[in-house]
Amino acid sequence: MKIILLGAPGAGKGTVAKRLTEFDGSVQISTGDILRGAVQAGSELGQQANAFMKAGNLVPDELIMGIMGDRLQEPDCKNGFLLDGFPRTIPQAEALKTLLSELGIELDKAINLDVPRDVILDRLTTRRTCENSSCQAIYNIKSSPTKVDGICDKCGSKVIQREDETEQAISQRLATYQEKTAPLANFYESEGLLVNIGAGSTDEVLAAICEAVAAAPA
Ligand code: ADP
Ligand code: ZN
Repeated sequence: MKIILLGAPGAGKGTVAKRLTEFDGSVQISTGDILRGAVQAGSELGQQANAFMKAGNLVPDELIMGIMGDRLQEPDCKNGFLLDGFPRTIPQAEALKTLLSELGIELDKAINLDVPRDVILDRLTTRRTCENSSCQAIYNIKSSPTKVDGICDKCGSKVIQREDETEQAISQRLATYQEKTAPLANFYESEGLLVNIGAGSTDEVLAAICEAVAAAPA
């Protein structure tokens, strides 16, 4: 499937995207994961992105489009892709539209995970992420804890609270989301691609997405 996952930080985009990759070989492309990997590696991209991310602000559109222009042309995208955390602004959505039409790729749907603010706040403060940049598995100390306290089930690395998951950075991220990203729902509505999905368990959300893109869970 070729889909965009929209939704506030904490809406469940990453969790859902990781599960969807198990269904049909589509790859998860998370700009947040790519950027955190670059910060950890200390690459030039990482150095440019670091301060924006720490403060809960968006990384400039040009940097993001540079990453995604390359990423979407890699061969593993042929089987489908799940865009998680991208596009995040109207200019990114416009640029993506141009890019996809140049590449001859058609999107199936833009899935908007519509989760109430109190649920989001609770999830973000209890979220933990594997610090290994090639894993970045997501846990939650309440709803999906690691088997061994503080250790990733998948790779054995340390599981940590992200630097942008302090209360202050979280409220900045939510404000940025409202201002810059929430308008994308209207954008994709007018493109005829929008599907809204309300809060539910991960399995319920997965089932609703599969129904929307007419894909059978494996
Ligand atoms: P979340 O969706 O939980 O906020 P992400 O992992 O998607 O977290 O992103 C973390 C940070 O990376 C964002 O706060 C932002 O600084 C940066 N970022 C990720 N994707 C984008 C994007 N498409 N455009 C601009 N900045 C981005
Ligand atoms: Zn891990």
